[in-house]
Amino acid sequence: MTDSRVRARFAPSPTGHLHVGNARTALFNWLFARRAGGRLLLRIEDTDLERSEARFEDLLIADLKWLGLDWDEGPDVGGPFAPYRQSDRVPLYREQAERLLAEGKAYLCFCSPAELERERERALAEHRPPIYSGRCRKLDPAESERRRQGGEPAAIRLRIPERPIRFHDIVHGWVEFSNEVVSDPIILRSSGIPVYNYVVVVDDALMKITHVIRGDDHLSNTPKQVALYEALGWPVPEFAHLSTILGADRERLSKRHGATSIANFRDMGVLPEALTNYLALLGWAPSGGDREIFSREELLKEFSLERVTPSPAVFDMEKLFWLNRHYIKASPPERIVELSLSYFERILPRPGTATAVPTVVEGACFDWAQSPEICSWLARVILLVAPSVDRLEQLPDRAAFIFGFNPAASVANPENAEVLRWQHTEAVLSRFTAKILEDESAGERRLAPERFKTILNEVKAETGAKGKELFQPVRIMLTGAHSGPEFDKAIPLIEEGSRLQLSPHVPSVRERVMEFQKAKTAA
Ligand code: GLU
Repeated sequence: MTDSRVRARFAPSPTGHLHVGNARTALFNWLFARRAGGRLLLRIEDTDLERSEARFEDLLIADLKWLGLDWDEGPDVGGPFAPYRQSDRVPLYREQAERLLAEGKAYLCFCSPAELERERERALAEHRPPIYSGRCRKLDPAESERRRQGGEPAAIRLRIPERPIRFHDIVHGWVEFSNEVVSDPIILRSSGIPVYNYVVVVDDALMKITHVIRGDDHLSNTPKQVALYEALGWPVPEFAHLSTILGADRERLSKRHGATSIANFRDMGVLPEALTNYLALLGWAPSGGDREIFSREELLKEFSLERVTPSPAVFDMEKLFWLNRHYIKASPPERIVELSLSYFERILPRPGTATAVPTVVEGACFDWAQSPEICSWLARVILLVAPSVDRLEQLPDRAAFIFGFNPAASVANPENAEVLRWQHTEAVLSRFTAKILEDESAGERRLAPERFKTILNEVKAETGAKGKELFQPVRIMLTGAHSGPEFDKAIPLIEEGSRLQLSPHVPSVRERVMEFQKAKTAA
């Protein structure tokens, strides 16, 4: 469906980091608006002045851009309905509230907060819903206006019609609320500060929003908002309330569940396309089939709000990581290297500035690695282990064996114990050691990959060990583990690393062999 009249909006409150729930809302708005060929707006909802901070606005925008989302109107790009930040729109809210008052659709309320609280408590004690009694509803407007002019503090309340409030929701179908649940809401506090449910309506209407797509925590706000549209004489938009996101324990997803902000996932080395793919599946599925991998183009082609389910979506971290592994493998190697270098600062600090913040500079190298040789070596280390990780932050651990290992721990490791007890192991280790050391005495300074292969073949012939009987003991001796990345690629990287004289030093094959034998004798 293309409809260039579509105007959707994403309206975050700058009170914290962008988390997965809001990011999914942003993505669904983006997919919906872009697919329709309509417009997408970003509006900053900072009416809660105590909790809102300008720095969060910047972070939200940066996170949205990182996810690959863009918008046509917003505080950063401007647009025909500016300003797009609620704190800059307060005069508009006052103006519309006065209009409602003048038209008799709203009234002044002089009840003090203390009185309202007493009323509430009484209602609760008598098992009645704690709604406003409507005391000021009956006041004569002219008299009320005089009291206000006389300086008495007055809030403005909307007069809710005495009939149920119905609206259509693309996800939930027709929804109906009794007017009693809504009661007459305050729209402008006596302090002059407008109330959230009211400003959203003024903004959405003045910004000509046709579709309000947001989290279903706002479903119960909607009847008030619908009553406001009607009172203001403005068309009611279409709504689509997206289901709650739950953690694995089926409780509402929160910080308790670990990583929930977009920044958390970015820091872990989750790629933006993996995250958007995963977020798209939270509450949406294409028609037919159980496909899970969707490029952005495919999402744009297939997304529709009609296929969004109202039932809660469970956030499955393992699935996200599984998708990420797919996207890591599908990425061009230079990109993976560029995104991964900073994780290696942990292992390989920059000389003299060990605590410096990791920065990936142009050309995909840190300044410690100005040497193109070191950079290209590290790039090959990264690419050697990248296929085995599901997030980039795991790379240094996977590559740790290159940067040295603890031979005593390797000897003691129960996972290695079985291999070390195999019939041929002792012979394999001692033959291999002897040959490596002979090489050294012959003056060879570095073990070339071909020489390594020849040595393995000789050990094989001399000991009768083959396949894993041959490889696993040698692997344990050189890397500390009986499995790992391809030997043929790892050995040259170990040898080259040791020659580069990095700090910490990368032990050569020979050094590894000697240290391992020492640890084995000591054990
Ligand atoms: N500012 C609201 C929030 O962050 C969004 C409200 C809306 O989309 O209408 O939850």
